[in-house]
Amino acid sequence: MSNSIKDQFPVFRQNADEKPIVYLDSAATSQRPESVIKAVDDFYYKHNANPHRGSYQLGIEATEAYENARLKVASFINAKDPSCVIFTRNTTESMNLIAYSYGMNFIKEGDRVVITILEHHSNMIPWQQVCRAKGAKLDYIYADKGGIISDEEIEAKITDGVKLVAATHVSNVLGIKTPIEKIIKRAHEVGAVAAVDAAQSSPHIKLDVEALDADFLAFSGHKLYSPLGVGVLWGKRELLDKMPPFLTGGDMIDSVREQDATWAELPNKFEAGTQNAGGAVGLAAAIDWIESVGFDKIEAVEREIYDYAWAKLKEVPHLTVYGSDKGEHYGAIAFNVDDVHPHDVATILDADGVCIRSGHHCAQPLMGHIGTSSCCRASFAVYNTKEDVDALCASLLKVRKWLGFED
Ligand code: PMP
Repeated sequence: MSNSIKDQFPVFRQNADEKPIVYLDSAATSQRPESVIKAVDDFYYKHNANPHRGSYQLGIEATEAYENARLKVASFINAKDPSCVIFTRNTTESMNLIAYSYGMNFIKEGDRVVITILEHHSNMIPWQQVCRAKGAKLDYIYADKGGIISDEEIEAKITDGVKLVAATHVSNVLGIKTPIEKIIKRAHEVGAVAAVDAAQSSPHIKLDVEALDADFLAFSGHKLYSPLGVGVLWGKRELLDKMPPFLTGGDMIDSVREQDATWAELPNKFEAGTQNAGGAVGLAAAIDWIESVGFDKIEAVEREIYDYAWAKLKEVPHLTVYGSDKGEHYGAIAFNVDDVHPHDVATILDADGVCIRSGHHCAQPLMGHIGTSSCCRASFAVYNTKEDVDALCASLLKVRKWLGFED
C-alpha cells in the first residue's frame, strides 16, 4: 500500500543507498511534514522578532504570527475564547501549571485528588507533589489488566470530597481510550474540576473542549506533527482567572512596583518570558496540515493500520501483546518477546531500520499493574503503512533467533 501522506514527510525520503526508516515511535514524537518545516523556516527567514515587544514592523509580524497560531489552536480544539489557550513547552509543563497554580492554591488538607492507573508520570508526579504539600489524598481509578476502566470503578472512586480529577484521554502504553466523558461527568457531579491529558489523543481524535466539557486540557505540539518545544494548556476562563501565575517575569505583568506586582490578563498571565513563536507557527502549520488531510481520513487510515498490526502481532510466536481486545484503541500497541529484554528487542529491530520504543514509557505504576517492569511499544501515525507493520513483524521473528533460542 503506497501512502501519499508519507511522501509529504522529508525524513522518509531516503536515497536509494540508504536503509528505509520504519518509524513506529510516533507516540514519543511524530515526524513533521514538509509544510510545517517550511512554515517554521519562513518565520525565521522573514518574520522573526520577539512577539509582544517590538513596535517596529518585524515585531508586529512576529506578534501576528504568534497570535494567529493561538487563534488556530482555539479553533482546532473548539475553544470559544482564544485567550484561554496558553502556550507552554509541552504537556508536562501544562500539567505542572495546573498542579502548581490550581492544585497548590485550591486543594486543601483532607481533599482528594483522583487520577487513573494509566497515567504518564507527567500527569501523576505533579499530583503526588500537590497532595504531599497540601495534606490531600491521591486516589487511583484502576483499569482491569487489559486497560479497561469500568463505570463502577469511576463511581466508586470519584465521590464527595474529590476536588480534582486528572485523566488521560488515551494511554501512551496500551493505546486504549479511557471513558473520559464519563470521568468528566462524574467529576462534575461531585463538584470536582476535571483535567484531561490529551497528549496521546490529539493526533488521532478530533478534540472538542466544548463537547468534552473538561475544565483543563493539555497536549504537546511535537506529537502532533509540530516542532519540539511547544505545547498547549486550555482552561475554562473562570478557573484561569482565579489562578495565580505559575512562572513570573517579563510580559506576564500589568504593573510592577518595588515590592509587588499585578498580573496581565489571560493568556499573558501564564506566558512569562520570551515565547517559542517559531514553535507556535509550526503548530499552526501542523493544524493546517492535519485539517487538509481531515480527521475522517486520519481515523480511517489509522484504524486500518492499527487493526492490521494488532492481528499480525498476535500471530507472532513468543509475543505477549498487552491490552484488551475490547475497547477503543489509538496509536500504540505494547508487547514483549518471551525471554528477551525490551531494550534488546528494540536494538535488534533497529538493525532493520525499525524504530520502536522500549522501557517503562514513563508509566511505571501501570507497568506494575499489567505485570511487567518494561515492554516494547510500536506506535502509529497517519503516515504509516501495512508495509511498516510487515517490516516490524518480520524483524520481530528474527529476535529470538539472533539470541540463539531454538524456536
Ligand atoms: N502524557 C502522555 C499520555 C504522554 O504520552 C506524554 C509523552 N509521552 C506526556 C504526557 C508528556 O508529554 P511531553 O513529554 O511532551 O511533555
